[in-house]
Amino acid sequence: MKVITVLGSTGSIGTQALQVAEKHNIKIKALAAHSNAKLLAQQAEKFGAEYVCIFDENKKQELSAYLNGSKATILTGMEGLKTIAALDGVDIMLNSVVGMVGLVPTLTAIEKGTDIALANKETLVAGGELVINSAKEKGVKIYPVDSEHSAIFQALQGNSMNRIRSIILTASGGPFFGKTKEELKNVTVEQALAHPNWSMGSKITIDSATLMNKGLEFIEAMWLFDLKPEQIEIVVHRESVVHSAVEYEDNSVIAQLGVPDMKIPIQYALLYPERVECPTKHLSLTDYGKLSFMKPDYETFDCLTACIKAVTIGGTLPAAVNGANEEAVAAFLAGKIGFLRIGELVTEVAENTERKDITCVDDILSADAEARNYVKKKIEAALS
Ligand code: NDP
Ligand code: MG
Repeated sequence: MKVITVLGSTGSIGTQALQVAEKHNIKIKALAAHSNAKLLAQQAEKFGAEYVCIFDENKKQELSAYLNGSKATILTGMEGLKTIAALDGVDIMLNSVVGMVGLVPTLTAIEKGTDIALANKETLVAGGELVINSAKEKGVKIYPVDSEHSAIFQALQGNSMNRIRSIILTASGGPFFGKTKEELKNVTVEQALAHPNWSMGSKITIDSATLMNKGLEFIEAMWLFDLKPEQIEIVVHRESVVHSAVEYEDNSVIAQLGVPDMKIPIQYALLYPERVECPTKHLSLTDYGKLSFMKPDYETFDCLTACIKAVTIGGTLPAAVNGANEEAVAAFLAGKIGFLRIGELVTEVAENTERKDITCVDDILSADAEARNYVKKKIEAALS
């Protein structure tokens, strides 16, 4: 029986992963969330988790009350996440927390030699070089959960002797595809949260509306598959059926298709290389009839341009644009800034941050903190 731990178990990816775990009898050794004590406790009881971490220390009593006499060890904060990441006897740690906070637990699991199923893309965006190099050194496998990267990973199977010429990274285009900046001036949080194809957590849903998500995925793909920026083509594909593709030297393009349901890539990452029944719908291409493919609008969706610029410069730049975006998205969700301001702030950080080399995790954390401070100050100044 496979044994896993899940960081971010109460979120969109985490809850779907637990459905997969239930279907395939995967043992859950530990679970972690930020503050949703009630659901975390229910999950821990249902799956018999031995360790439960609530990041927000103020919720510890509440979690303990909900757990009501269970023998699970209760942990809190970053130390708790690190304890889970360093547990013995774990086959895979699924990292599905949202945001840069996932970086240190990922590095801890790698240090421990535990394979990782990675949904938390911010980890690779901010710390790609460090994460990939440490994983290589320790012989740790990173199984992508993001649907596009899972598709690429699937299209690579059986082709280890062949060189990738390029990849096609598909993008749904989000709720605002085809709109101009003028039309996006006054969009509401509610409109930005209405994704046409995927049901996801609020941060990634906003990232999908600004296309920051595709920028983050561009960087994620470079690290996961050792690609140069010029080897990645972003294609807007409104239906989200072709999840991405690999082009080989012979001009053959191998893609992975499926209904837009994250349980497929989650299951592939957890059960790799097995393909067994998955609790999702069957894909009927004739129901779709037509599939469309278009170029993205880099001018309107300036987050995408900022990400590509940042990763081309390299060093701490991707960590900076990611940190700026996390802060700007939180401010947008809190009603403090307008939708277009997210792209402006991310672009400002991409243009004004000085590149530094990454030699250790602290270089990443300080680039992240600096960018967040810059964005926070700008937002506060505009509000006062
Ligand atoms: P959600 O917002 O739905 O869930 C986030 C999860 O992380 C929750 O369980 C939350 O706990 C937990 N969490 C947040 N901060 C911390 C912390 N400091 N310590 C411990 N747990 C924490 O996000 P998603 O599931 O949508 O996304 C998760 C990650 O997966 C993101 O990086 C996203 O980009 C990526 N991803 C998501 C996809 C999707 O379809 N949803 C697709 C591809 C990638 P709590 O509930 O208590 O707040
Ligand atoms: Mg994706």
